[in-house]
Amino acid sequence: TGFAALGLSEPVLKALVEKGYTTPTPIQEQAIPIVLMGRDVLGCAQTGTGKTAGFTLPMLDILSGSRARARMPRSLILEPTRELALQVAENFVQYGKHLKLTHALLIGGESMSEQKEVLTRGVDVLIATPGRLIDIFERGGLLLSDVRVLVIDEADRMLDMGFIPDVERIVAMLPPLRQTLFFSATMAPEIKRLADAFLSNPKEISV
Ligand code: AMP
Repeated sequence: TGFAALGLSEPVLKALVEKGYTTPTPIQEQAIPIVLMGRDVLGCAQTGTGKTAGFTLPMLDILSGSRARARMPRSLILEPTRELALQVAENFVQYGKHLKLTHALLIGGESMSEQKEVLTRGVDVLIATPGRLIDIFERGGLLLSDVRVLVIDEADRMLDMGFIPDVERIVAMLPPLRQTLFFSATMAPEIKRLADAFLSNPKEISV
């Protein structure tokens, strides 16, 4: 398929066939090879363009290609709302069905103790809203020192909802040597300032 030409692995391609996707969307075509190369991405894209798969598919390959140490989270996906976080988690499970990767969903409105319990078992990926991630971090037991892929999704909505200070706090807790994928539907000056602060020599993508 068109996805194979982008460099994705067999287990991920198989999950895509089963899901019925045959052709990558424009953002997937642009983002997937760049993410697989390990580069930072500044993506200007709306919901509905297929951007979730654009970052999830290559992330699955990056994570499955390297071993976890002590099963600490190696990837963090920040979403502005619990609904978006749930959708991303659903995608992660579907695309990763032939891989043995685990995730924790850290979102408001659900049991904090259950989310902490999942963390103690060890997870590869955290899918979180900023407020809940900080709450859990402050209670202790969440180690972020192994995170090497960070996704900041829907940055413009993070801004509208007043989450930017939380996002800045979270990024400051992560190792500086990491790959960062930053998506926003608009590139307002405040968004651009954040992107400049968080990204290192990013490849810019716009759809
Ligand atoms: P997103 O922009 O990530 O929220 O994706 C929008 C919708 O398009 C979701 O329902 C996806 O399941 C679907 N989708 C994403 N990539 C593809 C693709 N390559 N082919 C068909 N549908 C897709």
